Amino acid sequence: MKLIAVVIISTSLLNSSCSWAQTPTPKQKQGMEQQKTNPAFSRTKDDKVEMNEEDWKKVLTPEQYYIARQKGTERPWTSKFEKFDEKGTYYCAACGNTLFQSNTKFDSGCGWPSFFEPVTKKSLIYLQDNTHGMQRTEVQCGRCKAHLGHVFDDGPPPTGLRYCINGVILGFEKK
Ligand SMILES: [Zn+2]
Repeated sequence: MKLIAVVIISTSLLNSSCSWAQTPTPKQKQGMEQQKTNPAFSRTKDDKVEMNEEDWKKVLTPEQYYIARQKGTERPWTSKFEKFDEKGTYYCAACGNTLFQSNTKFDSGCGWPSFFEPVTKKSLIYLQDNTHGMQRTEVQCGRCKAHLGHVFDDGPPPTGLRYCINGVILGFEKK
């Protein structure tokens, strides 16, 4: 269905303009800019990312910066991924690191995208978090140390874990 739409759009561009091949569409342009301005972003590399706060500020949106670098929390029920069941892969929006597969996502009812298992153990870093008068386990991206959310032990089988993740810092790649 998507392919058909692309073909129709390409054909109509071809008919209306002969410079279509040289001029990127707004969507392509956006993708190119993201690659150019965020040197940390890669969907294939697994080397650790070390970047200072000023540089993170330049490449992340204000919401992403607040969550990833200042350990903020998005308002519940606001993520587009909260009620979202497409098949594919979720990755860190800050660096591209693969984090979760859609078949480990479940509807926790807690207001944030929830998963019961990361793609690999090395996908995440676990840290004790004693803020706000609670004892919780914070999860960060294993590649760039972006704050993602927390993991709780009230999840479904087979792991019994609930990774409660801020959708703002997730990217999604459809299968
Ligand atoms: Zn990351």
